[in-house]
Amino acid sequence: MTKWVYGFGDGRSEGAADMRNLLGGKGANLAEMSNLGLPVPPGFTITTEVCTWFETHGQSYPDGLAGQVEAALSEVGRITGRRFGDTVNPLLVSVRSGARVSMPGMMDTVLNLGLNDATVPALAEAAGDPRFAYDSYRRFIQMYSDVVLGLDHHAFEEILEDYKNEHDLALDTDLTAEAWQEVIAGYKKLVEDELGKPFPQDPAEQLWGAIGAVFLSWESARAVTYRRLHDIPNDWGTAVNVQAMVFGNMGQSSATGVAFTRNPSTGEKALYGEFLINAQGEDVVAGIRTPQDITEAARIAAGSDALSLEKAMPEAFAEFVGICDKLEAHYRDMQDLEFTIERGRLWMLQTRSGKRTAKAALKIAVDMADEGLITPTEAVMRVDPAALDQLLHPMIDPKATRDILGTGLPASPGAASGEIVFSSDEAEEAKNAGRKVILVRVETSPEDIHGMHAAEGILTLRGGMTSHAAVVARGMGKPCVSGAGALRIDARAGTLSVAGRKLQRGERITIDGTSGQVLVGEVDMLQPEMSGEFARLMEWADAERRMKVRTNAETPADARAARGFGAEGIGLCRTEHMFFDGERIVAVREMILSDSEEGRRAALAKLLPMQRGDFTELFEIMQGLPVTIRLLDPPLHEFLPHTDEEIAEVAAVMGVDAELLRQRALELSEFNPMLGHRGCRLLVSYPEIAEMQARAIFEGAVAAAASTGAPVTPEIMVPLVGVKAELDLVRARIDAMAKAVSQEAGVAIEYQVGTMIELPRACLRAGEIAGAAEFFSFGTNDLTQTTFGISRDDAASFLGAYQRLGVIERDPFVSIDQDGVGELVRIGAERGRAARPGLKLGICGEHGGDPASIAFCESVGLDYVSCSPFRVPIARLAAAQSALKAKSA
Ligand code: ADP
Ligand code: MG
Ligand code: MG
Repeated sequence: MTKWVYGFGDGRSEGAADMRNLLGGKGANLAEMSNLGLPVPPGFTITTEVCTWFETHGQSYPDGLAGQVEAALSEVGRITGRRFGDTVNPLLVSVRSGARVSMPGMMDTVLNLGLNDATVPALAEAAGDPRFAYDSYRRFIQMYSDVVLGLDHHAFEEILEDYKNEHDLALDTDLTAEAWQEVIAGYKKLVEDELGKPFPQDPAEQLWGAIGAVFLSWESARAVTYRRLHDIPNDWGTAVNVQAMVFGNMGQSSATGVAFTRNPSTGEKALYGEFLINAQGEDVVAGIRTPQDITEAARIAAGSDALSLEKAMPEAFAEFVGICDKLEAHYRDMQDLEFTIERGRLWMLQTRSGKRTAKAALKIAVDMADEGLITPTEAVMRVDPAALDQLLHPMIDPKATRDILGTGLPASPGAASGEIVFSSDEAEEAKNAGRKVILVRVETSPEDIHGMHAAEGILTLRGGMTSHAAVVARGMGKPCVSGAGALRIDARAGTLSVAGRKLQRGERITIDGTSGQVLVGEVDMLQPEMSGEFARLMEWADAERRMKVRTNAETPADARAARGFGAEGIGLCRTEHMFFDGERIVAVREMILSDSEEGRRAALAKLLPMQRGDFTELFEIMQGLPVTIRLLDPPLHEFLPHTDEEIAEVAAVMGVDAELLRQRALELSEFNPMLGHRGCRLLVSYPEIAEMQARAIFEGAVAAAASTGAPVTPEIMVPLVGVKAELDLVRARIDAMAKAVSQEAGVAIEYQVGTMIELPRACLRAGEIAGAAEFFSFGTNDLTQTTFGISRDDAASFLGAYQRLGVIERDPFVSIDQDGVGELVRIGAERGRAARPGLKLGICGEHGGDPASIAFCESVGLDYVSCSPFRVPIARLAAAQSALKAKSA
């Protein structure tokens, strides 16, 4: 018979850490901790296969499950010396969901299950503490009603608030056992009024109700959305964990807490966490009471006068520290732990690899390699390349004046500015309208995920470093300030205020997730630099990498930044980007609009010295590293003059009538500029453009070689070739110019001519085209556009809907479409190399900085990727990981 249930506890278990697919992450790790002999309350895990069965069999259970659950439950009873539903010595359990990966949207944990009117006095008797028993019962009724019966928890909170107001009580801890009994009566009446039947008293009914609720939550809208956003398959399913309760709310010698074995924000090797005395479950992260620090060091650093766990319960603390060390060494990774102390006795409730900021991920990986816990190669694999983006984001300029509105906790590093919005829907709307916002909330919950995605940063008024906002923001790599308690939100009036100051919805603020400050207005930011750990990890990555990483750059500033980030050359210099400013644009317009070769040459002559200067500087910055320069590829419409003023300006320079010029501009305007007279087509019609640019490149190369002493081998790239003859024509002009400049300068000039492969025809005819090209660079932006026949500029109106409907999985302009566009790239690479062995191959679209696309490039065997300067480190790491994966495959 299929085994649906796996037990754990008492120093052994039927599961283990490597059974995560079957037992879910939480269940597998509870089993593993049991096997390690750690103090884990006994329990059992109902497998993810039951969830799949439930989904595909009309929400029913497989035969045999009920019997296995019953047997497992009595085994837990045997270990604890209690019995489920017993009115003398009742066993209480928690019911916890647990998918393979931790997932918001899944059912919240139900604690104290098994309590009813008959078992609660027994619990009071057994604990010798009626107050504790009724406190547990009221928690259970509220939690169960909320997560299983679907009743809003606010209604329960209101009953409690009313009771406290009537009796002049401030804190929950002020309520006596009798007081809780009155509140419980109110709760039960509420349930009966709402549902037309009493709160379930039968423990078995309670248990199966909770189990069913976990499986149903797998299909909840929130869970489904989360899976879609994170590419989690629907058929993974969730497991259910049923576990004997231990009580952190049994008085002053009891506590509950969460901890990380290292600091998840900075990576510092120091135990880090929060706890509460006489509390249960998620009280610590719920922000109801202010949690206390676990270690003395953290308490002192925070300037808190609330006792640390180290001081309050030294024995339990010492045992906990030992367990942290053991778990970290066992899992060889930073752990995120949950624990409860019941009357001085420590119990472990969860362990998993902890979420961390990119900064922490880097430091932890490098430190662990230094400690010998992992190898440098493993360290390279540990850091998510995409997450490095966080470190490459701006921070607030230390010299900027800070108009501080308030301060909270530095929950997720980095800084961001935007307009104040108070709801996630508002955030999403504003984002869609192209505005930047900061999401300001009292606290966040899983319903806010879309708003957090849309916002530049998140500010909450309540909650600690482990609050929902903090954890989720760190995962997303968004700046977050949490628990800015002095601020007040008035959502109806649309204001954010603090003693004496008031900001309106829509006004700008800046949050600094590194210091916790909230600032009024937009503040100057600084570009980031790479830390010591960053540089070391990059070195280890570079040792594993096969592909080179170049950058897309045309300005000296970008080129320098890219070199600082480790770029090994320029893969794409888009010369038309050099033409946009000031006097240049006028000269370019003059060239485009003149109707004779003579006129064009006159305009080009003005551009030549500017271009030569540009190229000389780029070559000098790159110091002999390869530089690929693409000849002019202007979508004409971007350069044509539009306003009367612009037309008059060009007319004056050209000495022609403005009306005539307007006529000419009209003639040149195209129906479909993306498919129009651009790329090499322009160079074929007007070869003098290619000549001017080739001259500027060669003269620049000669000048830079002379000034730096490093030989320069420019790579000249002809854009948008579809037919080999196009390349032949342009190439002839380039070769002739090389000869001419070489003779004039009296030096030999090394250079290469290649083409950008960005049309399906070019991929198919790559063998032929390679006859005239020394290198190919796949221009995957245009290749995606032309393969799909989707205009990049018009795609926004429907690509979003396509993704929602599942027509396409990912935006193909962000991550390469490996099946379609990828097949063309493969064909182009194979045919090109077959015709010309050693043909140099690269990629220079946006995809060059996308880790998934980089892995694809590795699989095709490209020689390099090229991406924007700030993505160079991401590409270096992603290329190393792809090479390692290819090696181990
Ligand atoms: P989540 O996945 O949201 O962290 P958990 O299942 O870990 O949910 O439960 C949340 C909290 O409930 C835990 O941190 C722990 O404090 C408490 N809890 C769960 N099971 C038990 C138990 N058997 N005894 C005591 N507390 C428990
Ligand atoms: Mg939770
Ligand atoms: Mg947990």
